[in-house]
Formats: sequence, structure tokens, C-alpha cells
Amino acid sequence: MKIIDGKVHRFVKLIVYGCQMNRSDAERMDGQLQEIGYEATEDMETADLILINTCCVRETAEDRVYGKIGEIKHLKEKNPHLIFGITGCMAQKEGEKLIKRAPHIDFVLGTNRVHELARIVREIEAEHTHHVNVGAAETELPAGGAPVVRESKLTAWVPIMYGCDNFCTYCIVPHVRGRERSRSMEDILREVESVVAEGCQEVTLLGQNVNSYGNGSEESFAELLRQVDRVKGISRVRFMTSHPKDLSNEVIEAIRDGEHICEHIHLPVQYGSNAILKRMNRKYTVEAYRALVKRIREAIPNVSLTTDLIVGFPGETEEDFSAMLDFLREMRYDSAYTFIYSKRSGTPAATMENQVEDSVKHERLAKLMEVQNEISREINESLKGKILEILVEGPSKNDETVWTGRTRTNKMVLFQRREEQAGDFIQVKITQPQTWVLKGEQV
Ligand code: SF4
Repeated sequence: MKIIDGKVHRFVKLIVYGCQMNRSDAERMDGQLQEIGYEATEDMETADLILINTCCVRETAEDRVYGKIGEIKHLKEKNPHLIFGITGCMAQKEGEKLIKRAPHIDFVLGTNRVHELARIVREIEAEHTHHVNVGAAETELPAGGAPVVRESKLTAWVPIMYGCDNFCTYCIVPHVRGRERSRSMEDILREVESVVAEGCQEVTLLGQNVNSYGNGSEESFAELLRQVDRVKGISRVRFMTSHPKDLSNEVIEAIRDGEHICEHIHLPVQYGSNAILKRMNRKYTVEAYRALVKRIREAIPNVSLTTDLIVGFPGETEEDFSAMLDFLREMRYDSAYTFIYSKRSGTPAATMENQVEDSVKHERLAKLMEVQNEISREINESLKGKILEILVEGPSKNDETVWTGRTRTNKMVLFQRREEQAGDFIQVKITQPQTWVLKGEQV
């Protein structure tokens, strides 16, 4: 706390781990905290409130959080008025156990209770008692309407559903975030209209499996896409993540016919052999996935496809891995997020037989990345000389004069800035395509 010109200023340090959904939740936390008078700080030493929004998808992420919790103990000893809270997936999963393990934590707030943050902080400010509120992960829908402070003024993440019903055998998400619950279309459209009215150009609809939005009601994902596409003033619509088994022809048609829906689909395949897909419980085969990609590419010829891949899943043989590389060469993704399988306790895969040796996993990952990088570079090479529209984002990390923007297909473009501002749409001729980025000149 600082007194500046006779006014009390309180500061919050928000530490965020994990996926877009977590970052989106953090924006909602920030919004509430600003409303009750907290200002953001990067300095933990002077913060009055420290919040860790946690992720438990990988055990290494959880270990990092425990390390951070330990660090904050010293700050609490120096400043007993410091309020320290844990939110996010680990909070939901561990609940009270976190406070038992680290009594310097003041409160634990589950993923469905984000909207209660301001009230709980106020109560702790007044009484300094412990709070644990994780709610029922299975059924509850986080309350809408909470204030949001967004990371970007140009692009906004809008959660459309929470939880997951799929129980892939390596994944903790359904165990922590509970069953699928969808927000009402009316609520989502209201949020989209409001961010667009505030000047936002691009909206990303977020969920663990957006394709099953609506849970069988009349409110399908295809209809949601069509409605969001029609919001007055919107420039770009994106969505993630898609489960291949639920991506319907109607959704493909909505993307094809939409004016603002970007031609980019993140379609995690995870693996390229049926034996492993079955053990992962992905509920599709290589053949079904291949047929889906064919339908997508026929309907939307300029689509960019990206994916997630896991190597070293239990029982993976040389034959499986070789089939995976062949599948990758056949699919020709624009890019892929590649992961080494790591055990996540509480999931079926953690106790499966034939876990793969670490050294083998690393070798296979290196090979996988080599193959994918070559494909990404070749696809980007084919864009040389093309003129593409980009949404200008701002200066690049290393050079103030070089700015970045993104194509509708979600490729990052670097260009020499002239007069343009973040949020402008400009045409860029691609001159130097690379594996990860495209370099271009304005036309
Ligand atoms: S679809 Fe599978 S990997 Fe994705 S969140 Fe659900 S269980 Fe996890």
C-alpha cells in the first residue's frame, strides 16, 4: 500500500500459468480487483495482494506453482497484511489441501467461482480469515457479467463453454474443470457486441471443445459462429479448441460462408496411429480424421490447419512413431505444437504399462519437430510474393521500427512500420518467408 497525494493505493500482482482459458479467467479477476481499487504491479515486494492463477495440466506446471508458493512465504513473513490467494485448476483440484500444505495461503478459489473474487478479498481485508471456495466443478457455470480488464484492446477472448466430457486418458481437465457447460448464446453475443463497441477488432471464442457448444440444445456452435459473424463492426472471428470428432459439416459451412470467420482451424490430432489414438481415448480413427481434413480443405481451400502432437505416449512403438511421421507428412499442417508425454497423476495413462524411456521420447520429439519444421517452412515459402491482409498488432520485441501483424490464417508477419497504428488493416507483400514468421513489405 502506498499513500500518494493523500490517497491510498493498493497493488495486486497476478501470476498466470497455463492456457488461454486461464488467461481469460485472469482478465475477469483483474477487472474485479480494479473495481475494488487495486492497481496492477509487477513488483511482488510491494504488492498488497498476490494471486496465482494456476494450471495443473502438467505435473511440472504444478511443481512450479509449489515453488512460487514457497517464495511468497518470505514475503508474508515480512508483510503480514499481504493477502495471498490461489485460483485456477490447482485450486479447484486441491481445495483445502493447499492451505493445509501452505498455511500462509489466505484463500483458495475454484475455477467456477472467479466472480466471487472481489467479495472474498474484501472479506479477508476486513477479517483476515482463511477462505476456501471451490464449488462444484461438475455442474456450475461461472456467473457472467463480472467486469473484465483485457490484455489487448484489439483482440478479445470470449469463453463460450467450460469443462470437457471427453476423458482423453492423458488429460486432467475433465477431472478438474468438470462436465461441459455452455453459456447462453444471448450472453455470449452481448459480450461480443460490447467488446466490439469498445473498439476490439478480433474475437476468439474459447472452450476446451467448442464444437460441442450447446450440449445438444438448439444453440449449436455453427449457429453461434453465424451469429457472431453478423455482429456489427466485427472484423475477425476465431475459435479454439476443436475436437475432431465433433467438428460438423455445418461448422465447416459456417466458416466457408462467414465473412469474418478466419480460415484457420486448430485441430489437435495428438497422434497418427489408430493403436495410440485408441489408448488415448480420442474417439476417432486416423481414417476419420483424414476424411475430415479432406472435407475442410475442399470447402475452404485456403484454410490453414494447425495441430497438437504428443510423442512418447505409453506403449508407443517404433512402428507407431513411423506411422505418426507419415501421417504428419500427409497432413501437411501449417504448424504444430509438439509435446512430450508426461505422466499426470490421476489420469489413466499415468498407470499404463510400457511407459516410454525419456531418452527415446526426446529423440522422437526432435525428429518430429524436424519433419514439421520442414513442412512449415515449405508452406510458408509458397506464400512468397503473395499479398496478404494483416491486422497490425504493434512493435516487435527486438526492434521498435519493425512491427507485427497477423494474417486471417493466423500467421505472424513482420514489416517495417510507416504511419500505421495497432488495429489497422494493411496489405503486405511477403518477401522473406521463414519457418515461424513471414517477413513482408507494405504495398
Ligand atoms: S478433449 Fe481431451 S485433451 Fe481436450 S480437454 Fe477434453 S479430455 Fe483434455
